[in-house]
Amino acid sequence: MWCFYDRLFIGGEWVRPASTDTLQVVSASTEEVIGSVPKGNEADADAAVAAARRAFDDPTGWSNWSPDQRADALLRLATAIDKYSGAIAIRVSSQNGMPSSISKQTEAVMPATLLRYYAGLIRDTAVEVHRPSLVYGTTAVRKEPLGVVAAIVPWNFPQSLTFFKLAPALAAGCTVVIKPSSETVLDAFLLADAVEEADLPAGVINIVTGGGRTVGTHLIHHPGVDKVAFTGSTDAGRTIAEQCGRLLKPVTLELGGKSAGIILDDVDLHRSMKSMFASTLLNNGQTCFISTRILAPDNRYDEVVDAFTAMASALRVGDALDPKTQIGPVATAHQRHNIEAHIAQGKSEGARVTTGGRRPADLDRGWFVEPTIFADVDNKATIAQEEIFGPVLSIIRYRDEDEAVRIANDSVYGLGGTVWTADPDRGLAVARRVQAGAVGVNGFTLDHGAPFGGVKSSGLGRELGPEGLHPYQQLKSVYLPA
Ligand code: NAD
Repeated sequence: MWCFYDRLFIGGEWVRPASTDTLQVVSASTEEVIGSVPKGNEADADAAVAAARRAFDDPTGWSNWSPDQRADALLRLATAIDKYSGAIAIRVSSQNGMPSSISKQTEAVMPATLLRYYAGLIRDTAVEVHRPSLVYGTTAVRKEPLGVVAAIVPWNFPQSLTFFKLAPALAAGCTVVIKPSSETVLDAFLLADAVEEADLPAGVINIVTGGGRTVGTHLIHHPGVDKVAFTGSTDAGRTIAEQCGRLLKPVTLELGGKSAGIILDDVDLHRSMKSMFASTLLNNGQTCFISTRILAPDNRYDEVVDAFTAMASALRVGDALDPKTQIGPVATAHQRHNIEAHIAQGKSEGARVTTGGRRPADLDRGWFVEPTIFADVDNKATIAQEEIFGPVLSIIRYRDEDEAVRIANDSVYGLGGTVWTADPDRGLAVARRVQAGAVGVNGFTLDHGAPFGGVKSSGLGRELGPEGLHPYQQLKSVYLPA
């Protein structure tokens, strides 16, 4: 696979960028360069914001279209992007190491799924309701589109996370500048192709690449940008929150996690292990919501350690594009270095590696790390507190349910979590006590019809569900005479 682009998609056209720099995209499985795209700069970001601004401010344009007109356009984009779904999955897997069996189920389908969902929602949701005033006459309460959105996305689920923002923003009547991660830019160019084919008005969707934080920072500070929607690391999220705070610019932040998988003492481990894999190691551990701290009851501790050790050591590690691969490489050399540093730290802090911990001996290229299980982990240990973002799990012992909940909540993060039990009512009761934005009982299947997001250092605000529209709308009350 070799992809070459020398233009950026801005204002409905493929334009020559102001920047002459390029980004070289590398395969995580082979370490070979697989593509080259322009590395946008501040001038390119300015052009993208100007195009989005023109599209938003047009009095007969996108933001003033009826919900039905916008819904029709979203459906056209869904149809257009459907054609690229296979190619999107391949590009994502090639870039970030996501096993293709997973990219086909997520990256390939989530864009169109979310477009269709929000198209339906905006058709059915009144944007103006008239209420009797509590004082005099009637008040019209309107939900108006917020404006130009800067959507800044990470590399781990690049298309899904783009559409967590793009689909509700478009449905609400906003226009968007997307800043993809430099590690996963190639799939964003397929999105641009689909936008062009769907015949959306010029400037409604613009894509500007960039290296590091330069373009993202410029977009955040740009006076033409009305809202920032960010998914990424907690460190970057804090910086962006500070900047948006000073600017009084609305911001949604979906950040890191260190979620707990609470295994209750009545669990049927044998039945649970298949969904346990998806809930703890999805996408080579590069998933924000997975349960990377396994809380095991004292009386079944050894059994849990054995089950996880057996599961992890049986996983097939290999090229992300091989359909049989269960664990691919991690996304970058830097990411692997960080994971290996955590593994070394875990050992030095006294935890016991029961399987993994090294690079696979039979893979001499690609950024692979063996699926690694640590037992006897103290929840205060670095590997239990910091997000590792790789195939590394920590098993922590607890005495009773209260202690399990206390350990689960003893984290700066609060994004996801799981509870494993033979009794779903007991699972729900424990899930209610976990401080997190989303908790699954006997599995974790993200529901795009329900709000998703984090508490504590995992973020601010929610995406998905009907609630996912709200960050892209602002409320206006119009007082009408009697
Ligand atoms: P990152 O924070 O390094 O980068 C994310 C994006 O933000 C990239 O496009 C990057 O170029 C840009 N960026 C980075 N710093 C910036 C700054 N100061 N100002 C403006 N833009 C900036 O994150 P990453 O390494 O690409 O992704 C992994 C992280 O994302 C993990 O911490 C993971 O947990 C988190 N994540 C969270 C969710 C969620 O929904 N909560 C989902 C996926 C990933």
